[in-house]
Amino acid sequence: MTPLPREAEAIVVGGGTAGAVVAARLAAAGVQTLVLEAGPDPGPLGDPRWPQDLLDARRLGHSCDWGFDSGDTLGEGEPMRFERSRVLGGCSTHNGAVQTWGHRLDYDGWAALGNPGWSADELAPLFERASTQLRVRTYPLGELTPWQRAWFDAGPAAGLPQLNDVNGLDEGVGVAPESVNVVGAGIRFNSAFAYLDPVRGLDTLTIAGDALVDRVLIGADGAARGVAVTQRGETHEIAAPLVVLCGGAYCTPTVLLRSGVGPAEQLRALGIAVARDLPGVGENLHDQPFAMLRFAGTPQIAAAMDAAVAAGWAPDEQVIAKAASRFEREAFDLHLFPYSPTHLYDGWSWHAGASALRPRSRGHVRLLSRDPEARPLIDHRFLSDPGNEDVAMLRDGIALVRELATSLAHVAGGELTPGPDVTEPAALEAWLRARPDSYWHPVGTARMGPASDPLAVCDARGEIHGLPGCRVADAALMPFVPRAATAMPVTVIGERIAASILAERG
Ligand SMILES: Cc1cc2nc3c(=O)[nH]c(=O)nc-3n(C[C@H](O)[C@H](O)[C@H](O)COP(=O)(O)OP(=O)(O)OC[C@H]3O[C@@H](n4cnc5c(N)ncnc54)[C@H](O)[C@@H]3O)c2cc1C
Repeated sequence: MTPLPREAEAIVVGGGTAGAVVAARLAAAGVQTLVLEAGPDPGPLGDPRWPQDLLDARRLGHSCDWGFDSGDTLGEGEPMRFERSRVLGGCSTHNGAVQTWGHRLDYDGWAALGNPGWSADELAPLFERASTQLRVRTYPLGELTPWQRAWFDAGPAAGLPQLNDVNGLDEGVGVAPESVNVVGAGIRFNSAFAYLDPVRGLDTLTIAGDALVDRVLIGADGAARGVAVTQRGETHEIAAPLVVLCGGAYCTPTVLLRSGVGPAEQLRALGIAVARDLPGVGENLHDQPFAMLRFAGTPQIAAAMDAAVAAGWAPDEQVIAKAASRFEREAFDLHLFPYSPTHLYDGWSWHAGASALRPRSRGHVRLLSRDPEARPLIDHRFLSDPGNEDVAMLRDGIALVRELATSLAHVAGGELTPGPDVTEPAALEAWLRARPDSYWHPVGTARMGPASDPLAVCDARGEIHGLPGCRVADAALMPFVPRAATAMPVTVIGERIAASILAERG
């Protein structure tokens, strides 16, 4: 285990998807950088300590999970799991490895909220740079499995033109093979491999695994002066003039709250001294709700997929469609994707899902205890928007999936879930509400915005309002989720915040 230094020029809290980017860019520029990661550092790509499931890009990994769930926020029944990877590389180590950019409107929208430097034109070079660093490639059509290829081929008849990829910032609806950070023999090329491996040898970089940050330390001058971190049961204080929080949408607000930065009433209720009354910390939690349909499949598709597996490489997902619900006039607000896992049931199972990319519902993350190992309260309040638009968007997505499936009856077979009888709006809504599901993209719990916005937590440089020396660089920073899966936008946030830190240092 790496011994902890007593000081650094910059501390990066969380060596995840964005944290790896920030640390790599700062260390490469000569800034003495310490990464404190709550999970292990299994080493560079090729080190046998990496769990196999975190390397295998065919399906999601699970080995190093934080164990978060919905607790009792959804009422009775099994809580909903909120998977988050606790290991160097964060969620980039277990995710679907799909890299999507979203649409120009998303980032221009962030900028229009009072965040200079975040427009699509300003971020476009960072999307390019991150794609190169992550070795992103788009599946050639010949690499699609038969299940994926069938859905891709069905797109045009359902009004979804075939695109080269889904990442044109000016492009609207369409269907395309996924762009992925998958290298070699199906290895998920996570952020730690892409960003940290090339700089591991620098003496400006220290990576400490199994180091759980409790809180940010605040000096008498009101600025961040370092962190308190627990490793092997011992708590250490490490000094640094710059602390960059990269713990992700669930954990970054919890570090802030334990530091006394957040809604004053909540802090006092837990006996935490209020350092900054910032009502937005932990608020604005949102994710893209999701509906997964299941089909019976046919002997024909099962045989074709068996042949694909025998040939070697058959990932669970490879194709995405961008589509528009009744609410979208300018771009797209739905992702549809076919999915063919073998682990959910005994043998093949046949699915296609729809996700509402621009959710209206908002929830929150709160502390239940001051203990940094305690699970926070995560209440997404899925499908709770007063206009019920999230449900309507999902119903439109389901209708499109059904239209595609009907034209694919020779491979999809009949619908099993929710089933052909569940068609009336009320019945579909009841099905959606019985088991809300998410697309794994929580964001927004330390959102950026001008100080005049009472719920803004950070400014456009990621610096916490009223707490100089402490910045946020992860999914928590997003004012609202882009029309995208979030790994690439989060990577770009890492690039953007690192660039602004370095620009200010001159
Ligand atoms: C199952 C799953 C599948 C997904 N699939 C896709 C996909 O295919 N495509 C896509 O674009 N997006 C996908 N996503 C979403 C995407 O991976 C995330 O949005 C993104 O990785 C989040 O990055 P982050 O840097 O904000 O947080 P993370 O990557 O989660 O990094 C946070 C890091 O901080 C560490 N940490 C937290 N608290 C502390 C603390 N107190 N002290 C020290 N360290 C701490 C964590 O252990 C972690 O390493 C998926 C997510 C999941 C969960």
